[in-house]
Amino acid sequence: MGVYTTIDPVTGEETAQYPEISDAELDVLIGRSTAAYRSWRTTSLEQRRVVLTRAAEIHREQADELAKLLTLEMGKPIAQAKGEVALVASIYQYYADHVEEFTADEPLDITGSGTAVVRTEPIGPLVGVMPWNYPYYQVARFAAPNVALGNTIILKHARNCPQSALAIERVLAEAGLPAGVYLNAFISSAQVANTVADPRVQGVSLTGSEKAGSAVGEIAGRHMKKCVLELGGSDPFIVLDDADVDAAAAAAVVGRLGNGGQTCTASKRFLVDERVYDEFVRKFIDGMAGWQPGDPTHPDTKLGPLASNSGVEELDDIVQEAISRGAEVLLGGSRADGTGAYYPPTVLAGVTREMRAFSEELFGPAAVVYRVGSVDEAIDLANDSPFGLAASVFTSDPEKGDRVAAELETGMVWINSTSKSSPDLPFGGVKGSGIGRELARFGFNEFANKKLVRKP
Ligand code: NDP
Repeated sequence: MGVYTTIDPVTGEETAQYPEISDAELDVLIGRSTAAYRSWRTTSLEQRRVVLTRAAEIHREQADELAKLLTLEMGKPIAQAKGEVALVASIYQYYADHVEEFTADEPLDITGSGTAVVRTEPIGPLVGVMPWNYPYYQVARFAAPNVALGNTIILKHARNCPQSALAIERVLAEAGLPAGVYLNAFISSAQVANTVADPRVQGVSLTGSEKAGSAVGEIAGRHMKKCVLELGGSDPFIVLDDADVDAAAAAAVVGRLGNGGQTCTASKRFLVDERVYDEFVRKFIDGMAGWQPGDPTHPDTKLGPLASNSGVEELDDIVQEAISRGAEVLLGGSRADGTGAYYPPTVLAGVTREMRAFSEELFGPAAVVYRVGSVDEAIDLANDSPFGLAASVFTSDPEKGDRVAAELETGMVWINSTSKSSPDLPFGGVKGSGIGRELARFGFNEFANKKLVRKP
């Protein structure tokens, strides 16, 4: 049987191990989730509101301790880890504050006599499959709305962040969530498949790679289970000729390097009008060079290690392939010597369609810059991607910004800003970036039974 292991990305040291559970134990777990669902779905909204509010408070009270686990398990700089915990608190609070509004009956304007309403009801036990890049946040945006709605959750986390996974289960229990409503499960991919297929389970939400998403989505489809997939992105960052170049370059650095560049909505492709290209690239490189990798436990560190050595290898393979085919290195470009999963800020130019860096996700601190001659060329290049998650457009002309936003094949567009997650904004993509939405009312409705009740 496999194991879940904490491996400090700074030292490579293994500090904790947890074995996967057996199939028999998983069967008991699904049974517990099912039993918990029967009673949790009947609890008052007030009871759910109290639990969610308390979960938010505990995140705030235990922020330091919770943040340290993220830094230990996936190398997130401690200041950013605290930011993640604060965001998670705001998500639990948001659904506490909105559960009544989001579950209110919706009367329909019908032809004929009588009444018709749509009720928002839970559907049952759900499986969450979550990644390591934001261990608490990725879970919260699935767990908070579904706990509020009355569903129950079996959570399979990434195998390199088991202590963060256990912390989530502990915090929710401390917040007063009844036993069985949220269950952590250290299970294999095969066991995920069996859980999704199990008739007691009604849906699955996965955040991660397209490979994992299509594997789980296929099983969900075969067994007619609702699924939400939040997959990768290769977000374009468009700088038009009338943009505030200083502001754009400053935003670009944070958009590329925050969380070590390991964010699905990180800005990854920089499409810059030729009239401001040289100025933007100079300022962007200066800014990127200022984020040298350091100790993630230090409060001033902005760029830590990547989450794992395999992450470094995957990123470096794409960068080296581009260089070997003629891409130009404007900054960085090779992995650091010594221990630790470190990778330097890297900027490539001259990337062409036959290189992997053109179409694949660069999940780390490496950017690709392109020179474009017009707004239309920027839009075409932005859309020339298998992904469609988020996009940024920098321009001083609001009409141009709206026009570009209308033409982009993405789930989210940010004008004069990079993408930022907030509980009140829907999050999700089109094309290879996935199916469905998380957060806000949209995320609440994904695993809801929108039940029509018609009376004569
Ligand atoms: P994965 O997609 O492999 O892992 C994410 C989660 O899915 C983990 O819990 C993983 O479990 C699980 N998983 C993987 N394959 C299956 C499967 N067949 N059935 C069920 N569950 C599965 O991400 P990686 O860590 O391997 O990262 C690879 C790449 O994925 C990154 O470089 C990046 O491009 C992308 N990615 C995107 C993320 C995003 O936020 N959209 C987040 C993370 C990665 P386990 O840990 O046991 O393998």
